[in-house]
Amino acid sequence: MAQDQDNFRDSIGTINEDGKRAWIYPKKPSGKFYEYRKYVSYVLLAFLFLAPFVKVNGNQFLMFNVLERRFNIFGFPFWPQDFHLFVISMIIGVIFIALFTVAFGRIFCGWMCPQTIFMEMVFRRIEFWIDGDRGAQIRLSKQPWNAEKIRKRALKLIIFFIISFLIANVFLAYLIGSDRLIEYITDGPLQHVSTLVSLLIFTAVFYFVFAWFREQVCIIACPYGRMQGVLLDNKSIVVAYDHKRGEAENGRKKFRKGEDRAALGHGDCIDCFQCVNVCPTGIDIRNGTQLECVNCTACIDECDTIMEKVNLPKGLIRYASEDNIEKKSKFKFTPRLKGYTAVLVILTGILIGMLFLRNEVEANILRLPGQLYEHKEDNIISNVYTYKLVNKTTKDIPDVSFKLMSHKGTINLVRHQLFKVPAQGLAEGTLFVEINNSALEGDKNKLSIGVYSGDKLIETATARFLAPRSYK
Ligand code: SF4
Ligand code: SF4
Repeated sequence: MAQDQDNFRDSIGTINEDGKRAWIYPKKPSGKFYEYRKYVSYVLLAFLFLAPFVKVNGNQFLMFNVLERRFNIFGFPFWPQDFHLFVISMIIGVIFIALFTVAFGRIFCGWMCPQTIFMEMVFRRIEFWIDGDRGAQIRLSKQPWNAEKIRKRALKLIIFFIISFLIANVFLAYLIGSDRLIEYITDGPLQHVSTLVSLLIFTAVFYFVFAWFREQVCIIACPYGRMQGVLLDNKSIVVAYDHKRGEAENGRKKFRKGEDRAALGHGDCIDCFQCVNVCPTGIDIRNGTQLECVNCTACIDECDTIMEKVNLPKGLIRYASEDNIEKKSKFKFTPRLKGYTAVLVILTGILIGMLFLRNEVEANILRLPGQLYEHKEDNIISNVYTYKLVNKTTKDIPDVSFKLMSHKGTINLVRHQLFKVPAQGLAEGTLFVEINNSALEGDKNKLSIGVYSGDKLIETATARFLAPRSYK
């Protein structure tokens, strides 16, 4: 018996007994949470579509140009030299997700994840509009290929393809920058065939995900979903069925008008299966927390509607922890949560400090490998270096020059003494540092070199200077 009850764990919600794909036809959700989720999705979709086209101080608001290794986050440009900031941000992100998941389960999946938002709030709603609700969709899938089915399938394919193409364009704007995307569009796609091919590949991937793969992304592919087992505990708040109330002593039972369920020992669940029918991942939440559940709240809304109809209190399925259901205990800030929060606060403080200390110009001056020093006339020792200056701003830096700060000596550039570092670009070259040996303190000296724009010191760099041992 116990084994029978647990057999839902033997396979995932989208695989049938023959091991084949069980296509899910969820009922169209409706209710308080669904309305809230719609508003949240409108805001997030607007953000997602606009973020690559908004500029802050001339920088794209969000850009992840992996190919050229340039990133803009909230309008701040980041270069490969800022990799340490990227690593700390990633660690903060992971801890934040862990903290959030320990406390609130998969709430992110249901309310904020782009996959759920596109699937449930864009593609699924178009599907409801074209194919109708659950019953009509099941009928349509079973009926032979007639004019109605061909028309509906073709319409869906075209609309899904157009939206996938749109998403692929936005995705590309994040990847190569919106300015370049607009430039490519105005030039005409045939001028940029390789980009067009990439765009069509992205479109095909999005189409595949939203038209066919669907909820399996959350169940099979998403690593965050797989982590739930280790992150959740009895105190985590998740979408949960109140089995105490729903089952009582003698279990759930179909509703009969006028029957005194409490006296018969039956719980409040009237076994109407509406929570199962509405679930986009095809599970029965009454079996408990399962890896498929994306906390989309559709079953809460559906069960509340049923409870209202049969005059029972709402909240049989609700946001609750196992402890809340079992022991009626309230949410507690556990030591585990406190630990995560402390680490999160410390790391966020470090990141903010590093962001403030971060230079807009990065200078690297390195001795030319394999070169020693040159002993010139008048006891002058010369070392040769390569320099690389990165300008992280959106403005050119003019009249750049180097000055020796730690020693009396001269710096000679191979080309011009003054040069320009282009906006969001770099300047590199070779320079010689010449110091009179009497000013040196040994065979290895540490130099401090100032980088100036006009008279303004914009960055300092250090470098080693070699001198002959016998001249000490
Ligand atoms: S919707 Fe509510 S009453 Fe109906 S089966 Fe689900 S839990 Fe039971
Ligand atoms: S069980 Fe409920 S919350 Fe979880 S995915 Fe299904 S409908 Fe959404």
